[in-house]
Amino acid sequence: MSKIMIIGAGGVGNVVAHKCSQLPHIFSEIILASRNEDKCKAIASNLNNTIKTAQVDADDVAQLTELLKQEKPELVINVALPYQDLSIMDACLNAGVHYLDTANYEPLDTAKFEYSWQWAYQEKFKQAGLTALLGSGFDPGATNVFTAYLAKHYFDEIQQLDIIDVNGGDHGYPFATNFSPEINIREITADCRHWENKEFVTSPALSKQMRFECPEDIGIFNVYRLYHEELESLSKHFPSLKKASFWMSFSDNYLKHLQVFQNIGLTSIDAVEYQGQSIVPVQFLAHLLPDPSTLAPRTTGKTCIGCIVKGLSNGHEKTFYLYNIKDHQDCYQEVKSQGVSYTTGVPAMIGAKMILQNHWKHPGVWNMEQFDPDPFMHDMNEYGLPWTVVELDHFNPE
Ligand code: NDP
Repeated sequence: MSKIMIIGAGGVGNVVAHKCSQLPHIFSEIILASRNEDKCKAIASNLNNTIKTAQVDADDVAQLTELLKQEKPELVINVALPYQDLSIMDACLNAGVHYLDTANYEPLDTAKFEYSWQWAYQEKFKQAGLTALLGSGFDPGATNVFTAYLAKHYFDEIQQLDIIDVNGGDHGYPFATNFSPEINIREITADCRHWENKEFVTSPALSKQMRFECPEDIGIFNVYRLYHEELESLSKHFPSLKKASFWMSFSDNYLKHLQVFQNIGLTSIDAVEYQGQSIVPVQFLAHLLPDPSTLAPRTTGKTCIGCIVKGLSNGHEKTFYLYNIKDHQDCYQEVKSQGVSYTTGVPAMIGAKMILQNHWKHPGVWNMEQFDPDPFMHDMNEYGLPWTVVELDHFNPE
């Protein structure tokens, strides 16, 4: 029985609050804190006010430390924005609280994300006897655990990894993003990197595409190679990987809009002066776009996210595909969220459960694949994200 604090009351925060509330024997007390407490209260009212709320600016380490010392949670689930990761880790160290997030740190003024900043906290967390679990969403998160599970149970050595994230959902808007527009657009417009022959190879954003047929009649989609943070930790922790790539589906309509926004400078993170005010174009664009948390009631279709791994099994080359399919409307019925928030929030809840139940409690800073995947995979089936493994006869993304 543990008290937790969830930080961030967006689409993912809503799912984490709902899923943790469903397990009162583990998450006995929940406090939801965010910049704007009204958003926390709106979520709490959907949960019959069984959770507490608080206002906090998570960029302010002193303010957050004070709140943590006052509330004394055992664990913080950080589902604010990646910009807050380091300040929340600092506050957790100050107050002696375990830490979990779903996206790696990214400085506000540089469109670059990498684990080095958070890995640098390894000794501090170790010495404090605290666990920090990084990237416990779906991708990163479940995809790291899927890779570890295939490596553990299906292969002697894994050699090639393709993570494929398909969102076959439709919200009916000409253009909207399924999670924070600013983070989403920064990620997609960044240079692509994939792992090949022991190094990262850079190519222009969205320059490599393939057609991918999803299982279970979900459909055939255009998926584009892009850089995703789990490639950094997985290539480090599975040194036998010769190649690792991440692919995401985008509709032609989505890409057409994105290209126009880019061409006219609306995706830029560099501030411009407008009528005496300093405006960051991508933040202004995010302000104009639909709030991701409002997409849920109108989104139909399914997500299909999984890992295709090639490697050696008993001396033979084999290929296995481990995936989850989730229906957007099923998510809405259960927790009033669309599938992208749901598939992120459930692994965050499970990661928290892994720490609190001592399966994954170990002082230091860890990526998901560094722990035993089995209890996590068990809980994916149990709490709304069932998965399937199939053997593929052939898969050649080139
Ligand atoms: P939202 O933008 O919907 O929500 C973010 C929340 O954090 C908002 O409530 C926001 O407050 C709050 N917040 C922002 N800054 C601060 C601050 N300084 N102090 C306190 N609260 C703050 O994002 P999502 O819910 O869609 O995403 C949450 C996280 O999940 C992001 O980090 C995202 O990158 C990650 N993610 C991970 C995925 C994965 O699979 N691993 C997939 C999708 C998302 P306000 O309401 O005032 O803006």
